Amino acid sequence: ERARLARLRHTPAITLDGQRIELHANIELPGDTVAALASGATGVGLFRSEFLFMNRDGDLPTEEEQFAAYKAAVEAMAGLPVTIRTVDIGADKPLDRMSVNELRHEHVLNPAMGLRAIRWSLAEPSMFRQQLRAIYRASAFGKVKLLIPMVAHLGEIRQVQEAIKRVKVQLDDAGQMYGRVEVGVMIEVPAAAIMLPHLVKHVDFVSIGTNDLIQYTLAIDRADEAVAHLYDPWHPAVLHLLAGSIAQARAAGKEVSVCGEMAGDAAFTDLLLGMGLRCFSMHPSQIPSVKQRILRADSQRLAAVMPRILDSDEPAKTAAEALTPQSRLH
Ligand code: PEP
Ligand code: MG
Repeated sequence: ERARLARLRHTPAITLDGQRIELHANIELPGDTVAALASGATGVGLFRSEFLFMNRDGDLPTEEEQFAAYKAAVEAMAGLPVTIRTVDIGADKPLDRMSVNELRHEHVLNPAMGLRAIRWSLAEPSMFRQQLRAIYRASAFGKVKLLIPMVAHLGEIRQVQEAIKRVKVQLDDAGQMYGRVEVGVMIEVPAAAIMLPHLVKHVDFVSIGTNDLIQYTLAIDRADEAVAHLYDPWHPAVLHLLAGSIAQARAAGKEVSVCGEMAGDAAFTDLLLGMGLRCFSMHPSQIPSVKQRILRADSQRLAAVMPRILDSDEPAKTAAEALTPQSRLH
């Protein structure tokens, strides 16, 4: 089994009908690039930078500390893309109490719908510019992509672009080097999925965060055990938003990936391939099982059964009938 997995690491993820699939890793700290490379990942699809901000003694990481962490990840990946998500702090990923108090945001009514992720960054502009400077400086050492979490408004993208402009002027003035950085948004809020054709014109790529997209589409707190049985990736509304987002991003000629848990669960690989997904990002340990699925999949045949699944009242059942026996044929 070990030897087979090791062989798999160097096997490119190509479907039976010749579609090349990118399998990227989700990481939390720069050291996770070791596992990412060992798993055969062809890039980092999601660097959850908030982990640099969590579990600290009340302070926040400086620009230098962040720069060192991003640079370490970028150098470790040696030219492969590293997608750094700006802090997704709040809700299920709180800052420790002291930092929160320092930032005067201690009263939160509903964290999942509150001042989290990009909303938090835009409310803390100097902290945000520090992070942007650290990310841009790291881009001098490899291929860096910048990913904005929890976008719901076009105005948020504009504000980020303004902040980037200002940061580049600061870096130019300081004689700091940086490379070209593609900017993308996460599709995690139904509003962003619904308006994707508009949003996508203003960015280089999108990454679908199914964990939050499911939470906000179904109004199910992803951390609440009492409603966990209703957290359903197969809900027709979730599938419609997913399929629509993938198709619309592709139609606009923009790269699209999925970096939520669905991407790393082999039970959804055929479904996502059928929807047209060509880039998956997941925990490194999940890459081998997803790759095995891809090696046995025929993306054209999968695409042909998508309308039936999307039209079904019971998509999970329809998919089990339509997808699984087909993949077993091979
Ligand atoms: C997601 O929401 O699917 C996602 C990838 O981001 P996180 O799980 O960090 O919120
Ligand atoms: Mg999320």
